[in-house]
Amino acid sequence: MASLFERSITELKGIGAVKSKLFQKLGIDSIGALLYYFPRSYEDWSSPMSISQAESGQVCCIKGRLSAPLRESRLPGNRYMVRGEVSDGDDFMRIVFFNNKYISSMLKYDTDYLFYGKATRDFSGLQMISPEFLPFEKLSDDSLRPVYGLTSGLSNKAVRDAVYQAIQLLPEQVSDPIPEDIRRRYGLCSLREAIINIHRPKNQKALHSARSRLVIEELLMLNLGIYSLKQSNHQSRGQNISCDYTDEFLRLLPFAPTGAQRRAMDDCTRDMLHSKTPMNRLVQGDVGSGKTAIAACACYNMVRNGRQAAFMAPTEILAEQHYATLSKLFDGTGLRLGLLTGSLTASNKNKIRQELENGDIDIVVGTHALITDKTTFKSLGLAVTDEQHRFGVAQRAKLLSKGESPHLLVMSATPIPRTLALIIYGDLDISIVDEVPPGRQPIDTLLINSHKRSRAYNFIRKEIDSGHSAYIVCPLVEEDDSDLMAAEEYAAELMLKEFSDYAVGVIHGKMKYSEKEKTMRDFANGKLNLLVATTVIEVGVDVSNATIMMIENAERFGLSQLHQLRGRVGRGDSKSYCILVSDSTSDNTLTRLSVMCATTDGFKIADEDLRLRGPGDFFGERQHGLPKLRIADFSDMDSLRVSQSIASDILSQSPDLSDDKFRWLRASIRRLFKDSGNTMN
Ligand code: ADP
Ligand code: MG
Repeated sequence: MASLFERSITELKGIGAVKSKLFQKLGIDSIGALLYYFPRSYEDWSSPMSISQAESGQVCCIKGRLSAPLRESRLPGNRYMVRGEVSDGDDFMRIVFFNNKYISSMLKYDTDYLFYGKATRDFSGLQMISPEFLPFEKLSDDSLRPVYGLTSGLSNKAVRDAVYQAIQLLPEQVSDPIPEDIRRRYGLCSLREAIINIHRPKNQKALHSARSRLVIEELLMLNLGIYSLKQSNHQSRGQNISCDYTDEFLRLLPFAPTGAQRRAMDDCTRDMLHSKTPMNRLVQGDVGSGKTAIAACACYNMVRNGRQAAFMAPTEILAEQHYATLSKLFDGTGLRLGLLTGSLTASNKNKIRQELENGDIDIVVGTHALITDKTTFKSLGLAVTDEQHRFGVAQRAKLLSKGESPHLLVMSATPIPRTLALIIYGDLDISIVDEVPPGRQPIDTLLINSHKRSRAYNFIRKEIDSGHSAYIVCPLVEEDDSDLMAAEEYAAELMLKEFSDYAVGVIHGKMKYSEKEKTMRDFANGKLNLLVATTVIEVGVDVSNATIMMIENAERFGLSQLHQLRGRVGRGDSKSYCILVSDSTSDNTLTRLSVMCATTDGFKIADEDLRLRGPGDFFGERQHGLPKLRIADFSDMDSLRVSQSIASDILSQSPDLSDDKFRWLRASIRRLFKDSGNTMN
């Protein structure tokens, strides 16, 4: 079997060097890849409609027979056309073919055909141009015909013919990654059956069963693949703490924790005290729900128990802010903190690294600089990653590898729809922080077009006059210099005109770290009234005095991103506002933006985002280091659940999949993850 899967498609009839290049464009380089090139959709030939029912523009299937002789006529340029008339007994339809010399010999009298194609209707009735057709009596095998994604030069028929040939070559016994006992338990068809029926379904039922098996197979590979990525760091016992210092920590905290914060803190402490394996916990809470304090509590517990903690953030600004927050919080406790970011001078970095190695630093806050090879710890007991969606599985693993089975705490403000969380965070325990600190008022969000911009500026000035600060966000591609010019120009114009009496700052990704930090600090201290920013402010930066945010070209952001941005305001006690500016007239965009106006519930917004834009945003390869999926999508909760029970079933039989029975499974997982740059063990 493996051999057939790996054989070249040039072994198939009709595929030579030229065609095989075209197939390669579709990512098909072997017979296996061809068999796993699943149809996008199907033409349904099984339920023909009558000619009078067909609507103009509709792709449909019509049963009928020729009611008049075919007529050929010449066209300029050595071209010709064949016209015919089809009757279904009640009504007539014209059919037209161009430059096909075989038509006359293929279409016979006194035979019922099915015609499939796009129908158009005009004053003289219904017409189909170059329909596909099939004698009615031959329908039985092919009533659902696959439609493949194509590339120019390659017809659907060419792909279909190749696939049909490959199917003929399938041996009776196909090595199936899902062993038979498991298939039987979960009612899944065999791989052989699934492959045949996904390409050449006998009927809807067969198609459904093939699809469902292949979707579950793919999700299962994903589940098990992620699981083993995580496993590689979680084999031994964790370095459990022996003493609970949470009460002591709470006395340091300048506010009383919310109930949800307290629960999450206790979850972490319990994991680190009692769990047989290291803590592996996700704290998921909306922006502003107070996740930093939860992480601080876990760090405090770890350090007071004699080991180090590392706190990794995706941007320097955020790392800097966490460092400042923790330094203030732990001032006077004797805890030694360090900050490690890429833009420190080499000698400063070395100094911090030396101190980490010697154990002279208890808590280090930092960026990706923490996971480079040069960073080593004396005894890392806890790794925290903030804004988890910015890190891939591999980066998290790298941080963990800095200690001996350290505990892991990941924090995310991106509410992930449950369907996706099950996969992305497969084996993490989850604490949900579903409460915001008291005194917060909901943010009012409104959508305006650019004609109302000057009124929005008035409103912003009023907010500033009453002592608050404001953001204006421009959607910039950070790599694009011309866009950055636009940000600076925009700020300059505001300084000269609408906000000439105010202190305006600008911040974007291309600025030097020190400049960004200074600007951010000036803004946080109230030295700047208005900050014109790119999305660098998206992640976690906290300025509680900011009460209004205007987002330009709001249509260019995803919903979840808008939600993150909006979370930068409404962090204090005052009423806050978010103004979305967009001149888009697309229904889809307006629907999307109106979701923002209607709710501040991050989970609802995430669900809408998933529905409107698909899972890409949550599930981008870049973000999570996960492979692309061929057939599964995440709207299907049931398949996800089934795949998860199968996964735990399999793992209970063979925790490391080493059982010979799972060799094909192991190979498939490796194949799936190979392309996404992950190495599996
Ligand atoms: P998140 O990281 O979840 O978005 P932060 O941890 O940055 O939120 O907290 C947001 C703001 O709320 C911070 O200024 C923090 O000091 C404050 N805060 C957090 N918890 C509480 C609380 N229980 N009571 C009052 N203020 C709080
Ligand atoms: Mg945060």
